[in-house]
Amino acid sequence: MYHLECIKCGAKYGPDKVIYTCSKCGGLLDVVYDYSEIRLSREDLKGPLSVWKYKALLPVSREPVTLKEGGTPIYHLRSIGKEVGLREAYAKHEGMNPSGSFKDRGMTVGVTKALELGMKSVACASTGNTSASLAVYGARAGIPVIVLLPSGKVALGKVAQALMHGAKVISIKGNFDDALRLVRELCVENGIYLLNSINPYRLEGQKTIGFEIVDYFGWEVPDRIILPVGNAGNITAIFKGLSEMKRLGIIDRVPKMTGIQAEGSAPIAKAIKSGAASIAVEEHPETVATAIRIGDPVNAVKALNAIRASGGTAETVTDEEILAAQKMLATKEGIGVEPASAASVAGLIKLRRMGVIEKDEHVVCVVTGHLLKDPETVIKNCDKPIEVEATKEAIEKALGMKPSIASY
Ligand SMILES: *Cc1c(COP(=O)(O)O)cnc(C)c1O
Ligand SMILES: [Zn+2]
Repeated sequence: MYHLECIKCGAKYGPDKVIYTCSKCGGLLDVVYDYSEIRLSREDLKGPLSVWKYKALLPVSREPVTLKEGGTPIYHLRSIGKEVGLREAYAKHEGMNPSGSFKDRGMTVGVTKALELGMKSVACASTGNTSASLAVYGARAGIPVIVLLPSGKVALGKVAQALMHGAKVISIKGNFDDALRLVRELCVENGIYLLNSINPYRLEGQKTIGFEIVDYFGWEVPDRIILPVGNAGNITAIFKGLSEMKRLGIIDRVPKMTGIQAEGSAPIAKAIKSGAASIAVEEHPETVATAIRIGDPVNAVKALNAIRASGGTAETVTDEEILAAQKMLATKEGIGVEPASAASVAGLIKLRRMGVIEKDEHVVCVVTGHLLKDPETVIKNCDKPIEVEATKEAIEKALGMKPSIASY
């Protein structure tokens, strides 16, 4: 019912082959279904949102390794929308997944696939959330997990999760791009299943973000989906999934895929702006948004196509803009996200002010991970708690109140 296909040379591989890139040309692989065999309509898709609701478009047949991922809330951005003059602005809060990021959508499918392929252990390189999610799903499946993290550059909550859920955590003295290169070699040479977003099966799970968005709006397709871009797997996955739904006649168009990167880590946004056919690797990526601190995005080729083919765009935002958007979401909308996630909303604000986003557009920002993932950045950017003596008078004084009558 499906096979793997190289996006560059078209070489085909069977679904049972453990392979991550084309063995003929090194190109990225896609999962390609026999679409004429898939009977799927809006009628079949009644009921609550979840990843496995869309199993007709997922490449596994065995019982899934699941913690009930997906079904994340979509919130109307009333206050931010008003501020920038955009009535139909929404955020889909992927921080509400079991491990606190959208990576769970990919891992429920990827780890299930690992078992289906008979693999005995799994591994990944990670800026944090991939490792947290893999640790969770590996624990659920009962198989060992190895994760490689760039030393000192992973948010505290994410490391805590990887450790607590029992992954073997290796901290390497290098950046994410180094970690990925090493873990690939390790996996191929030792028969370990690699679950980075280069693995096309993981992206299949992540495409359900797009499915849930159009499903939630009663199959009315938003004009634009905005998301933070690191390795560019997610933007690619959502575009692929919605293109498949269009092909099956479930929706009639695909939203403009809009990718946001941090200024110090923006190879994709730069290529889109300059019209270059491929990216220039950023050797020393830097940003406060560690989840998108990536200089050599694995899925760059797919992502450039997704953005261009959908009529979308890409933009950069500064760390200051990211942190300001994080604070706005938290204080004006009640939505708590980690810095990388706020990049999508920082991008929304910037693109609206530039006039790229028009005032009557229907826009959905994907906010990718939970606030509690990165408590250190939060503490650094908020006022400290006010410490006082344990008396009512001291509290009132700290709050700038006049002493209350009752105390006299
Ligand atoms: C992984 C991640 C991203 C980047 O997603 P890509 O698919 O690598 O582009 C963005 N935000 C958060 C919170 C993430 O964990
Ligand atoms: Zn090829």
